[in-house]
Amino acid sequence: MLNVQDINVYYGAIHAIKDITFEVNDGEIVTLIGANGAGKSTTLQTISGLLHSKTGSISFLGKNIMGVPPHKVVSHGLAHVPEGRRVFLQMSVEENLEMGAYTRPKGEIAASLADVYERFPRLKERRRQVAGTLSGGEQQMLAMGRALMSKPRLLMLDEPSMGLAPILVEQIFDIIRELNAAGTTILLVEQNAQMALSIAHRGYVLETGKIVATGTGQQLLEDESVKKAYLGG
Ligand code: ATP
Repeated sequence: MLNVQDINVYYGAIHAIKDITFEVNDGEIVTLIGANGAGKSTTLQTISGLLHSKTGSISFLGKNIMGVPPHKVVSHGLAHVPEGRRVFLQMSVEENLEMGAYTRPKGEIAASLADVYERFPRLKERRRQVAGTLSGGEQQMLAMGRALMSKPRLLMLDEPSMGLAPILVEQIFDIIRELNAAGTTILLVEQNAQMALSIAHRGYVLETGKIVATGTGQQLLEDESVKKAYLGG
């Protein structure tokens, strides 16, 4: 579904992504794990068209999306929930969700809103509340709901568990699993390697801009060097 081949991304003189190649197949949950600064967010931003690779190719559903601007990438069926959620703080929950549907025909928006409210009853209760007054967990749900309003085939999530209490982390991971079971393919970036690998079909380990290991979620959970570096021994 998504094929990333030999990409290299620089911030000025900093070589942040070094010859990264990986793929996500239809129906999978794939996770990219790694320490702070390993290049996980940069990878997602490059796929989304926010950053540019100097080399290689990125294809999605058989189409080249390298160099395609972010709003067009969304129309191809690829949605990105950025790190830190980035909801529109001054707007209501419902206005935020509607913003996520800008690629969709007007007549289909009400049905998508109903779908999102069914998945996130908390958002329905708070539909008129200003997003800036939501809790961290609610903002994460809103950011995910907003992305779902574009009806993505592939949902990219950047650190959805960041800053959340353990009970909420569990809830967010349950939702990710449910979305996947309902047919959405997931590319999940996480520092919480234990949780991410436990729900992922496959994973890739990033270290200073390079992929250093790959395998099924279970294989990586049992890998001695992954255990030592990312799973607390
Ligand atoms: P984190 O989990 O901390 O978000 P990450 O794995 O997502 O880490 P990136 O944010 O992709 O890592 O960063 C990769 C590298 O690129 C890091 O060395 C970082 O300092 C650098 N970097 C990221 N954004 C910029 C920027 N705007 N300007 C310069 N360097 C940057």
